[in-house]
This record gives sequence, structure tokens and C-alpha cells, in this order.
Amino acid sequence: MMKLKVLLVSSEVVPFAKTGGLADVAGSLPIALEELGVDIRVIMPKYASVRIGIDESVIGKDAKVYFVKNDDYYNRKELYGDRFSDYNDNLDRFVFFAKAIPERCKKEDFCPDIIHCNDWQSALVPVYLNTTYKYDPWFSGTRTLFTIHNLAYQGLFDKDEFPKTGLDQALFSINYFEYYGKVNLMKAGIVYSDAISTVSPTYAKEILTKEFGCGLEGVLKIRENALSGILNGIDYGIWNPATDPKIFKKYSVDTIDGKYLNKELLQKELGLKVDRDIPMIGLISRLADQKGLDLLAKIIDDLLKLKVQFVVLGTGDNKYHALFMKMAKAHPKNTSINLKFDAVLAQKIYAGCDIFLVPSKYEPCGLSQMISFKYGTIPVVRQTGGLADSVKEFDPRTGGGNGFTFAEYKPQALFSAIKKALSARENRKAWNELVKKVMGLDFSWEASAKEYIGLYTKITGMSR
Ligand code: ADP
Repeated sequence: MMKLKVLLVSSEVVPFAKTGGLADVAGSLPIALEELGVDIRVIMPKYASVRIGIDESVIGKDAKVYFVKNDDYYNRKELYGDRFSDYNDNLDRFVFFAKAIPERCKKEDFCPDIIHCNDWQSALVPVYLNTTYKYDPWFSGTRTLFTIHNLAYQGLFDKDEFPKTGLDQALFSINYFEYYGKVNLMKAGIVYSDAISTVSPTYAKEILTKEFGCGLEGVLKIRENALSGILNGIDYGIWNPATDPKIFKKYSVDTIDGKYLNKELLQKELGLKVDRDIPMIGLISRLADQKGLDLLAKIIDDLLKLKVQFVVLGTGDNKYHALFMKMAKAHPKNTSINLKFDAVLAQKIYAGCDIFLVPSKYEPCGLSQMISFKYGTIPVVRQTGGLADSVKEFDPRTGGGNGFTFAEYKPQALFSAIKKALSARENRKAWNELVKKVMGLDFSWEASAKEYIGLYTKITGMSR
């Protein structure tokens, strides 16, 4: 059988450049696809962080990564400037990137079945394929998939910038690029792609509603039949307490006492009382409105009246820095507030805590609940997006489920869910069974990659 040929287009790819979860997906999914026999290649801009002399590299065994070079546009430390920074040329940069892609395919003698685009930075690729390259025989068999990792970031530009795209001005209309008087790249990507996906099945449904649609629910509704969701995986090569060099002591399902040793050593490092009986609750997050921290703010004093320890690791909006600093002052004994980015401490927290909070307002997929599982830390999450698809309510009677959930975006709903977790932990035997069970769950990339192959195969059969 002929190999499926896929070009994955992403503005960021681990290990070359990263600002967010997109980079993790773009760095891991191709490796899993390659293992499953796909001819997968990746293309990204050559940023300053790409310290490679030539314009290609490999990830996995031999999956090629092509770099689009233009030093004026990409040889910078920051991946994306904004109107407050020194640069204000994102549309020029991502027009250049998108236009370079079909030409690079030809140069590499690569005729892809699927071009898999991700987020607004690559949204122009399906547009050019359906306009400039519409009758180009090289791409007559090529279909496009556009994956939305976070609908809130759309690539919006002033309407005066539209000519930079080089497209017919008529496309600056409500049916294509125009969005409340602005140029919206994500909207065009949704309109022009053969299929659209998001990073969880629940988020795929949520974005059709006003609450989650970020103003694009109407155009998504039109494409509803072409829209689906595939949950991201995590890389167990990195996230595994049995091999993790960053934690105090390695452990596995058979040696969960090692988890409690990690807890004691973390308590010591953070200056908390060393006592494995006290429930330790963790939160690792970007401190942004999306993450449900306003709910936490309202219940924190009540929560800290209980016999618990609370550990926070995060950076972000100033208002949340202020909130957590106030919390540290008011409850110095049972909180440890770490307002920084620290990959080592993060792993120690995943390993050392009993309970992990993810109270997000919306969450396209979310990785931290999956990482928590692997480290035997039980998540308490709001039922939204990928959280709803990965965390199922624990039932103490049957032992079913794998965490604790709440639905309503209300402080008391979060507090009740935390109390459910604390009370389940009273039965230490059942709790340890739950810990072992979640450590064995499989959220690897392999399962997701198989779903992507199913979707690619379906799309290749579609007419354009
Ligand atoms: P998002 O992409 O919206 O930030 P995800 O849950 O998908 O949320 O991914 C967040 C990732 O970043 C997780 O791996 C989490 O552990 C990590 N992370 C977030 N904040 C910090 C921090 N301050 N220090 C270390 N790691 C962090």
C-alpha cells in the first residue's frame, strides 16, 4: 500500500521553538505518525531559536522538518510581536510563510495527500491552495485539515493590511476574511479547509455555541459537518515517574510509597510541615482568565481553614500574582506560592501532591490533568473541553471513574468538588487503588495519532 503523505504546518515545533501547547503537539504527533507508517514531514519558520545551519532537520527516527528562512521576519527571539512590541509585521510574516509552503513542496518533490495546518499562523495555506494554486496539478490530490488549538487567538489585523495577502480584494467580505471590520485569518482557515478539527471532542461541540465560540460560532456552524475533535496525547518519554530525573525519587504503580517520599521531600523543600497525612493540593498553570482562578480566589480562605496544604506554580497576569501573594501572606503555614516558570519544580509538584486543580473556564484539551494521572495525583476539574473528555467522576461505591468534577462555573461548585476528593481520601485504601488506577491510564500519542490517520484517510476521499 502507498504511504499516506502528510505535511504538518506549524508556527512552533518542539524542540525548535515553543510558546505554548501547539509546539508540543507539533513535536509529538509527527513522531507517533511516523511510527504508524505515515510519510510525515513538518514545516515551520526558521526562528532565532532554531540553531541549525541548514534549512532542514529531523524529529523522531527520520521525519523531516523543513524551515522557512527569512531572517528579516523570523530571526528574532520573540516568536510573535504584538502592537506593544518592536515589531508589528505578523501579517507580512505569516503571508510569507504560507506562500513558501506550496513552493517548498515542489522543491522537495513532495506531493502531499494532506496538508495539516494549525492555528491562525498557518490558516492562509488552505486559502492559497484554493485560490493561487487551485488549478495547479501538483496539488490536485491534496486536501487540507485545519486544527484549532485555542479559538481565542485568531490572527486579527486591520482591514488596511488586507492587500498584503496578495488576494483579490473581493475576499475581504463577510463570507471569507472579514470579521467586524477586521481581517481574521482563523476565520479564513475555517472557511477554506476541507476539514476542521480541535483538540478534544467536547471542545469541538462547545465552539459551536456563543459561550465558547469567540464570535466564530456562526462560521463554525456552517462547517459543522466537517468539524471533529481528537484529544491530544502526552509524551510518556518525558512524563513518567518511573524514569523522570527531575523528581526526588522515581516510582511506579508497584512502588507508590515512592510517591509519598516525593511528597515529604517536596514539603521540606517548600518549607511546609513534613507530614504525608496532610492532603497536598497542587495547581500549575498560566495565570490567565481562562484558568478559573477567580473561582479559586473566592473559596481559598475557606479551603485553607481545612487541614490541607496548597502549592501553586504559575506566572501570568499581574492581578493573579497579587491575589496569590495576598494568599501567601494570609496563610503562610499551609501555602507555598511560586510565581515563576520552573519545569523542575513542576515535575516535583505533579509527583508530590495528592490532588491537582484544573478549574478552567474553558480548556481546549489541557495537558496537566493527563500528567497528573501519570504521577498518581488525582485531578479536580471543571467539566469542559478536554477536561470533560479525560476526567470522569470517581464513584466511591463502585470504584469507577478517575477524578472529581464540577459543571457550573461557580466557586461553591469547585469547593464541593474539592471536598468530595478530600472525603474520598479519608478511605486511604480505596484512594491508593484510585492512585494506582490513574497511573495506568493511557493518554499516549499513539491513540491520538491513530485517530488522526482515520481522519486524514476520510479527508483524502473528499472532493475539493
Ligand atoms: P495551556 O497550554 O493553556 O497553558 P495546558 O494544560 O495545555 O495549558 O499546558 C500547560 C503546560 O505548561 C503543562 O505541562 C504545565 O505543567 C506547564 N506549565 C504551566 N505553567 C507552568 C509553570 N509556571 N512552570 C512550569 N510549567 C508550567
